[in-house]
Amino acid sequence: MRDCRLVSRKFHLDFSHTIEVAKAYGGYESLSKMDEYSSTDIIDIIKESNLRGKGGGGAPAGDKWALMPQDSKQPSFLAVNCDESEPGTFKDRQIISKDPHLLIEGIILTCYAIKAKHAYIYIRGEYKQFQDILQTAIDEAYEAGLLKECKIILHRGAGAYICGEKSALLESMEGKRGHPRLKPKQKEPEWFFDNPTLVNNVETIASVPFIVQNGASAYREYGTKQSPGTLLFAMSGHVEKPGVYEAEFGTSMLEYINHFGGGIKNGKKLKAVIPGGASTDVLTADEVEKVTLDYETLKSMRSALGTGGMIVMDEDTCMVGALKNLLEFYHEESCGQCTPCREGTGWTDKLVGKILDKRGSKEDIDKLLDIAGTMNGKTICVFAPAVSTVINSFVRKFRDEFEMKIERHSI
Ligand code: SF4
Repeated sequence: MRDCRLVSRKFHLDFSHTIEVAKAYGGYESLSKMDEYSSTDIIDIIKESNLRGKGGGGAPAGDKWALMPQDSKQPSFLAVNCDESEPGTFKDRQIISKDPHLLIEGIILTCYAIKAKHAYIYIRGEYKQFQDILQTAIDEAYEAGLLKECKIILHRGAGAYICGEKSALLESMEGKRGHPRLKPKQKEPEWFFDNPTLVNNVETIASVPFIVQNGASAYREYGTKQSPGTLLFAMSGHVEKPGVYEAEFGTSMLEYINHFGGGIKNGKKLKAVIPGGASTDVLTADEVEKVTLDYETLKSMRSALGTGGMIVMDEDTCMVGALKNLLEFYHEESCGQCTPCREGTGWTDKLVGKILDKRGSKEDIDKLLDIAGTMNGKTICVFAPAVSTVINSFVRKFRDEFEMKIERHSI
């Protein structure tokens, strides 16, 4: 497996979050390219690199950047999404705690490209220790005179998962409840107090310095044609060495688990993997053998790469219990605006709990699928549809385990 450290360049160093260490390892060198390139040149480079948003959706970042006006009388803003709150997703905190200056460097380049004078970093409320590291790095960058053209403001969230959805994030930044907004019919920027705003995830912005400094083709040398570059995949669950490891898109999932994770814990067999954070469809061990870590392959298997946060489960895992665990989270985190989501997450959680406690009947499995069906395609944001497909994937692929809980109870 090829070693690649496009984003994790200094992760192995202690105290790598200081500006001295960042500069000693090439930090801020890409800023010299702002003398060579215009703002639209940089947008073109990002488009050419086909950098995909690394926060879950995987949309081409350059296309989003190109929606930002270059000659507006209104101010433009950048909002950096650092609200990772989903079980299994913990990669952005590696960047902000180990190499915050890489993010700041990316922010400066992005603000230059979209002509924004202010960047907000919306950070998860529970990340207090990482906020302090990040704020110290921002202060260092101010002192070093790097933030003359663009101000960076840390905005602390209050711990709601749904604020990681970009429009809910902006609502929250405006001081309102973090509720997702209805999607516009046409492609347009996001809006922060009615001003055009670009929202990108931490890792997406942290990928920008490498691309601007080395060129789009250098980035495209990694990964696949449609999913170029690398991703910081986070691996948790039943592996020997859980953690965050950068790998090229297109890497075999099984190879990744064995190479970086040291294989399944205590020599057990693999049973299943949730591939991209808690809201992506579960894969069986057979599927894991065939899958490669890129957007297209995961999509073709009716799942998604999401945030690249893999939750690995061994042969002893109870899949009914695993789904119950997820549903408790979903129910807690539904923002409550849409009835199918607010009610559906609660009722499916109760039903799976009933089956898990061996109080269920076969009709409860059908009812579970029926309720999951009502949650798909009828809501403001994609949270409820994602929950719906996760429920379906668990029942479709591990139905025998659900039925066994019922049969044991009926005997
Ligand atoms: Fe809120 Fe759920 Fe509706 Fe999304 S789908 S807006 S989380 S209620």
